[in-house]
Amino acid sequence: MISVIGIPTDKNSSYMPGASKAPSIILEEFNSEARNQFSENGLDLGKKNIWTDLGNMALEDSDSEFESISNAIQMELKNNNYCISIGGDHSITYPILDGYQKFYPKINVLHFDAHPDLYENFDDNPYSHASPFARIMENGLAHSLTQIGIRTMNDHQNDQAKRYNVKVITMNEFSSDLKFAFEDPIYISIDLDGIDPAFAPGVSHPEPGGLSTRALLKILSNIQGKIIGADIVEYNPNNDINNITAITAAKLLKELMGKILE
Ligand code: MN
Ligand code: MN
Repeated sequence: MISVIGIPTDKNSSYMPGASKAPSIILEEFNSEARNQFSENGLDLGKKNIWTDLGNMALEDSDSEFESISNAIQMELKNNNYCISIGGDHSITYPILDGYQKFYPKINVLHFDAHPDLYENFDDNPYSHASPFARIMENGLAHSLTQIGIRTMNDHQNDQAKRYNVKVITMNEFSSDLKFAFEDPIYISIDLDGIDPAFAPGVSHPEPGGLSTRALLKILSNIQGKIIGADIVEYNPNNDINNITAITAAKLLKELMGKILE
């Protein structure tokens, strides 16, 4: 069974709030009667007992937000569920993987993003949404990290990528024929700004020259190995146009579910 968890926080957003409003809107689009609930690989996600919507975590006034997130994930993994977390800003991937690590010691992370999110410290906040993958790697929460769609690399983060042995596939090197296969479990983290703002404008840091929705879906469908969880982060409804980014996130949620249960 898949547990869908809303993590409505933007406390660690460095530039523009809004991501905390994302999970409810994405789920609304997922459940909209404008579309059916079949994934492209033929799974009927409208059926009962395939997935549960756990709703939004109550994070207001929590000063141990990361601990709450890690605990919520561990609770689901203990019950043999797979988690798809709906952000929230990208800072949540660190506590999510902290939870996963306790059940899956050897995880390969596939990370789609315009940004490497590898800052040692950003704006005096080491837990910034610009830093989750530095925290993940320094704490040994990922056996390997592959970043796809990167198009904002700078010197500092390039040093960090080398330091942590991150495999970076920049947008310039990108091809939708890329195929990923892993023996050990796979976790997928999708920052919606990895997609081109033409397809997904509703993000806080739009960066042109990104992935098409179809290229991302194709890469997901070609992944070989056991996918044990995923997150979809950084939707900012304040910047969206006709809900297209929410609809895209809902589509990704559907396809991730279909892929996890394949
Ligand atoms: Mn990003
Ligand atoms: Mn990110």
